[in-house]
Amino acid sequence: SSQTLRVDLGDRSYDIVIGSGLLAGCGEAIRAVSRGKRAFIVTDDNVAPHYLDIVRTSLEQAGMRVDHAIMPAGEQAKSWDNLGRLLDAMLAVRSERKTMVVALGGGVIGDLAGFAASILLRGVDFVQVPTTLLSQVDSSVGGKTGINVTQGKNLVGTFYQPRLVLADTAVLRTLPVREVLAGYAEVAKYGLIDDPHLWDWLESGGGAAIARLDEQALQRAILASCTAKARVVASDERESGVRALLNLGHTFGHALEAEGGYGGPLLHGEAVAVGMVMAFDLSVAMGLCPPADAARVRAHLAAVGLPVVPPQVNGQPMNAERLLAHMASDKKVSDGKVTFVLAHGIGQSILCRDVDPPQVLQVLQQAV
Ligand code: NAD
Ligand code: ZN
Repeated sequence: SSQTLRVDLGDRSYDIVIGSGLLAGCGEAIRAVSRGKRAFIVTDDNVAPHYLDIVRTSLEQAGMRVDHAIMPAGEQAKSWDNLGRLLDAMLAVRSERKTMVVALGGGVIGDLAGFAASILLRGVDFVQVPTTLLSQVDSSVGGKTGINVTQGKNLVGTFYQPRLVLADTAVLRTLPVREVLAGYAEVAKYGLIDDPHLWDWLESGGGAAIARLDEQALQRAILASCTAKARVVASDERESGVRALLNLGHTFGHALEAEGGYGGPLLHGEAVAVGMVMAFDLSVAMGLCPPADAARVRAHLAAVGLPVVPPQVNGQPMNAERLLAHMASDKKVSDGKVTFVLAHGIGQSILCRDVDPPQVLQVLQQAV
């Protein structure tokens, strides 16, 4: 069984299809949204051995000619060098304006292939076939593409919507458990932002079911997450206002990631988990949120196996002052002010631009 969610963006509207075993029939679905009969699959060297053949075969059976590129797995793939190599490979096989780019992989491949598609021949269509939980619930929806540069992560890119997203839950079986949980942090995030029912379900067994890759639980969580993100994105496609709520846990999380360094101790979703706990602690400290809600956040994330305190780096606790400094230099800062996503409680997030740095520092000092 599969479920379809329509993302409403006028003439750039598209479907998100969620189900188990979608890859085997992906060719017909992709052909149906293609303007021509050519596909270019972009994937990475972890995903390719598992899924490249299934996708290629399905596309060929649907009558498409298929080329592909296999990028090195990992965040480093999102670089100028790899973007250049990818565009060269696409042009070397004489890709056309009607070529469909197929992003087969996690968020890294989605961001890189989407960016390449947006600038190849001034823009060719692309579809997302996300293969990590994080990419299925977050990065494949919203239309942000991009790469990392020396100055920081995701600083060069485009807003570019896919023609279709195919989220096949069966592919999560080959994903390392740690990566599954990192994606789960973003699912929990949607509950904390504005969906207390989702949170209650996660807490009362939904989260545990997702962690053991129960099909129905996965579908429900992905559908709820994509619905939540699509709703916010549709009302604020280019991130001026409410879209910032999606950054719950991310201001703290990015500081933790920056302090840990590239390939550091925390995956992005793990840093977001710790960051959400900190955001709730700060909300409590500011008298906005009942302590019991912050306690529930901490307890549930810990129960599914996510970190809830900053890790040590080289045997040392992280430095609270340096974490604060990272937050002040986040790219989301405007007019020298950090926008915090805080909460009145579970499912009641708010944006707040008047936060006292000493109060943030206190929360950081208590956490490390
Ligand atoms: P990822 O793409 O690096 O995938 C994680 C790891 O799992 C990689 O080693 C990958 O090779 C492997 N993998 C992927 N699918 C697999 C499968 N089915 N079986 C086995 N291994 C598999 O990481 P991610 O967490 O999916 O994405 C992170 C990236 O997403 C970051 O670059 C981040 O900036 C980006 N992102 C973008 C947005 C957006 O809106 N565009 C939102 C959130 C995150
Ligand atoms: Zn995130």
